[in-house]
Formats: sequence, C-alpha cells, structure tokens
Amino acid sequence: MLRENNNQLQDENLLDSFSEMETPFYFYDLKLLHKTLNEVQTLASNYDFDIHYAVKANSNDRILREIETFGFGVDCVSGNEIRAAINNGFSADKILFAGVGKSDNEIRYALSQQIKAFNCESIQEMEVINALAAENNQQVEIAIRINPNVDAKTHRYITTGLDENKFGVNQRDLPEVLDRLQTLKQLKLTGIHFHIGSQIVDLNVFKGLCLRVNEILQWFAEQQVNIQHINLGGGLGIDYQAPDSSAIPDFSAYFAIFNKFLNRNPEQSVHFELGRSIVGQCGSLISKVLYIKQSTNTTFAILDAGMTELLRPALYQSYHQIENLSSTGDINQYDVVGPICETTDCFGKSVKLPETRRGDFIALRSAGAYGEVMTSNYNLRDKNEAFYFE
Ligand SMILES: *Cc1c(COP(=O)(O)O)cnc(C)c1O
Repeated sequence: MLRENNNQLQDENLLDSFSEMETPFYFYDLKLLHKTLNEVQTLASNYDFDIHYAVKANSNDRILREIETFGFGVDCVSGNEIRAAINNGFSADKILFAGVGKSDNEIRYALSQQIKAFNCESIQEMEVINALAAENNQQVEIAIRINPNVDAKTHRYITTGLDENKFGVNQRDLPEVLDRLQTLKQLKLTGIHFHIGSQIVDLNVFKGLCLRVNEILQWFAEQQVNIQHINLGGGLGIDYQAPDSSAIPDFSAYFAIFNKFLNRNPEQSVHFELGRSIVGQCGSLISKVLYIKQSTNTTFAILDAGMTELLRPALYQSYHQIENLSSTGDINQYDVVGPICETTDCFGKSVKLPETRRGDFIALRSAGAYGEVMTSNYNLRDKNEAFYFE
C-alpha cells in the first residue's frame, strides 16, 4: 500500500521546528502509525485474528498509548515491559509474557498483575512459575513456546526458530512437557506459541510455519489436549530500501497466508505478535552533521548520532536509508559515521548524498523498531526528547 508520497520529513516548516531541538532525536510520524494500525485492525478483524503488539520493538510511552487506543493487546518480554504496558493503559487480560529467561521477580510481578498468560520456554521455567503461583494459590494460563525448526531465511542473529537457537521447547520434548504439566497444579495449558524470527520478507516462510503448526496441532489433538490459542508470533519484515513507497507493509498478503494454510477449528483463537511491521516505518533518527572529513579515498560525514542511538547497523549489519534534509547540492559520496570510538559505528559506506556540510540535518529512516529501545549511554551519551508529528 502506498503512502501517497507524503514523506513528512520533506516539509520545510518541519526543519524550522527541528532547529529548536537538541540533536540527535527520534522523529515519529504518528499519522503513518495510525494508518498502519488502521490497516492491521481492519484486516485482522476480517479474519478474526487477535493482535498483540510486541513491546520490545518500541516501548516509547507515546507510541504505546497510540497502539492501546486501537484495542490491541501486548506481548512483553520483561517485567518492566509489562509495567510500561500497564502504565500506558493496557489491561492485564491483554498482556502476554514471553522470553527465554524470566527472573523470579519478573514472574512474581506478572502474577501480581494477573496478566493473561505466560509463554513458557522450558520445563524448568514451568516448574518455577508453578512454585511461585502456589505461594498465593493462583491459577495461571500458559502457552508452550515450541521451536518448530523452520528457517526464517533472515539474518542469523534474528533467526529464532531453528533447533540450534536457544528459544522454545523442541518438538521431541513435548511428551515430557505434557507429562510434567500433569503434576504442575497451578498451570493450565491453553495455547501454543511460535516465533521463528524477525524481518522475514519471504512470505513462503510463513506457509512453512503453518504446515508445521498444523502437524503440531494434530499431535495435541491426538493427545486429547485442547489448544484454545494458537500464537504465531511476529516477524513480518519491512522494506528498509523504500520507506516512502512501502510505508505500510503488506499485511494483507501476510494474513491471507495464515488464513489459507493454517488448519484451525472454529473454537481456536489465532494470535499474532507484530512489532517491527507496526512501528518500523514511522520512526526516523534525526541527526546533525558535525564535521566533514576528507581522507585519502573517502569523505566522511561525521554525525552527532551514533550506534548509541541506532545500534542496528553495528549489531546486524542492517541498512537504513540516509537522507540529507537540508541540502539540494550536487551528489557526492560519503561514509556516514557516528562519533563513538568503535569502527562499527558506521551507518553507511559510499552513501550518495547532496553536498553535505556541517549543520545539515540527516535522517536515518525506518528506525521506529529496535531503534530507540536499543539506545545506550555508552560513552556517557545524553538522550534527547523525541519529536511527534501529528
Ligand atoms: C521480538 C518478538 C516478536 C516481534 O517480532 P517482530 O519481528 O518485531 O514482529 C514477537 N514475539 C516474540 C516472542 C518476540 O520475541
């Protein structure tokens, strides 16, 4: 779906407002976020799918409040994410708690808030939740996160559904899990959960996931275990090469695949935990050029933003489109780098930009997901207020 060529960053009035901001800062296009959420909501309700937003993609309070108004639930991977969700209006019965290493304190907190369910990743974790729930004689709904051994065909650092990954319970261990659950009296198994990776752009991968999930559902049916909730995780990718023409991911094709290939019975609810695809394109990191430095074969544009504000290029070699918002000069090539004392603190090599000078505003696009949440104060860096465009 096109975004009718309205890259808000091109607006001259916006640059005036930017000049009053401390840089670097995150810019959020809330109009685009709304359009995206509308699209997801409409399609999901057509198919009767439930959406839980994956808070870890962006836990900015303002963004969480916007998402809450659309009636979605949340998928949290820490106690503090649960706290942030509750503080921003999400009701406890729409909160799921996932994660391979939940601490006792986090489990206690989630129990005290009576969240909807825990997505459990090992037998030992189930035993611990059971013991902590027994302290207050609480009944807890759980889903088993199953590692389906399906290759997400994405960067290996964000592949999570292969046997070699640390996530979930392997299929061959499921009989043992069911045996053990017989004795864990506080726990009620109601769902199965999958999340095979992130930034998945080959939709065939999701067809493969459906076929594996169908086998697993069949197995549970044979064991006379009633699975009420099927949670298929997140993972839908965004187009980092085309933040304007592909501003809204193809949710329609994505949901259609699950609708076509997943064999659910009418009593089973189907859940998705979308993160990146919801918030990725609405955010940009805005930075100022500090210096232009000429070396033998390279011209460096040194920004006031670095890996401390946007870690993804250093962590996953990921691409973000880079735009100079201030210049319309002749095109040159720049290595666009940050100020941090690490060689990986580089946003792009040989990037074509209009002639770039000290003080120009630079936008790093598609930074709404896994951007602001991964900021650090390495080098004792400051964190600046975000800008919300409405
Ligand atoms: C990270 C994560 C998600 C969201 O993934 P996206 O690729 O951002 O959609 C969903 N579920 C779980 C369990 C996760 O860890």
